[in-house]
Amino acid sequence: MACQECDLLQRIPPLPIGGRARCARCGFVLAARPSDPLELPLVLTLTALIVFVVANAMPLMDLSAVGRYASTTILGGARQMWLDGERITAMIVVFCAVIAPRCTCS
Ligand SMILES: [Zn+2]
Repeated sequence: MACQECDLLQRIPPLPIGGRARCARCGFVLAARPSDPLELPLVLTLTALIVFVVANAMPLMDLSAVGRYASTTILGGARQMWLDGERITAMIVVFCAVIAPRCTCS
């Protein structure tokens, strides 16, 4: 591997957990192995969970006209579709927006 700073060619051995490989000439960090490989995915998953809850709890749309005000969330819209008899559409909305928003079938 060539150092990005000084172009010294070096061989990088397998790194232990939490280890770093530095350039022998300039000390630039050539490679690093995280101390806890689950830490970043766990933090990202918890952050996504918080954002998911907020996104489903906040109003999707507000409407104010002629002195009347209406607001709904994704689940509120799906619920209203269900009550209006559009049950298949309501189930598709709930599935695509709440249950599996990033589901891809390819
Ligand atoms: Zn270097």
